[in-house]
Amino acid sequence: MVDGATKLLGVIGDPIEHSLSPVMHNAAIAELGLNYVYLPFHIAAADLGTAVAGFAAIQVQGFNITIPHKQSIMTFLDNITPVAQAIGAVNTVWWNGDGWSGTNTDVIGFLAPLQKLERDWSQTTAIVLGCGGAARAVVAGCAQLGCGAIQVIGRDAAKLQKFAASWQDNSFARTLSVHEWTQLSTLLPQGNLVVNATPVGMFPMVQASPLSAEELAKLPEQAVVYDLIYTPRPTRLLKLAVEQGAIAIDGLEMLVQQGAAALAKWTNRDDVPTATMRQVLQQKLRH
Ligand code: NAP
Repeated sequence: MVDGATKLLGVIGDPIEHSLSPVMHNAAIAELGLNYVYLPFHIAAADLGTAVAGFAAIQVQGFNITIPHKQSIMTFLDNITPVAQAIGAVNTVWWNGDGWSGTNTDVIGFLAPLQKLERDWSQTTAIVLGCGGAARAVVAGCAQLGCGAIQVIGRDAAKLQKFAASWQDNSFARTLSVHEWTQLSTLLPQGNLVVNATPVGMFPMVQASPLSAEELAKLPEQAVVYDLIYTPRPTRLLKLAVEQGAIAIDGLEMLVQQGAAALAKWTNRDDVPTATMRQVLQQKLRH
């Protein structure tokens, strides 16, 4: 129940009404028995600074950031973690006592299902489809895994070059290479991990797949195909991948784990109920 002592959390974006974060976080907050409420805030780009100052004034404890504010929020923060600096985007902000701090929990979310596989990734090649916002978290994640090579595929040569240049100061930059889609067929036989960081195959375009069955057949044994999309589950890509004997991972766990990491940060709890968060998301996505 909301009362005089209830603390505020939330998510800002434009649009925001389709965000799954409120239902996921409020279910976890209820299970933990905490006196918090997590609200959606529809904030236009022009109002971002005013909103952040207002959040400080009304003592919001922390908030998530979604499209289109993940980069622009950075100018309003007092501290940004190295991982968020490297990615160039912040999805989680908290009040640190005298200012706002920001980080990016998408890397934690992305890595969670891969770490469960308990593999040695050091001799492996990761192929990342797309070079947008999510691909940045994926590249940072693959670097943390220690992948021997990270090959990023894009359809725009200028964007690919910009993407490559943005990582040049990072220690793993020598493992990163960028390629156009025409080169993909020759790269696939080394692809131990393939990540779809494009919207191809997302509802309502559910018949689309970034890779065909023939292309997936080129992957090495025990390859992992990871689609960041969570509507539908599974995507056509993942159905085809399983048919070709690959291990499939969809985007739901990334969504759960990036949220759990944010809630743990805000509430200082290490027992965030991920099973409840997963369950409410599955229910919501079924409707
Ligand atoms: P984004 O910044 O718009 O980037 C999308 C990338 O996909 C760009 O490189 C874009 O290329 C490329 N692309 C778009 N349509 C394409 C097509 N038809 N063929 C080939 N490439 C195409 O989007 P994002 O935020 O990175 O999100 C990408 C996907 O990840 C979305 O499906 C999103 O739902 C998912 N995601 C999931 C989670 C999760 O928690 N599971 C988190 C974040 C994102 P151009 O730049 O040339 O257009």
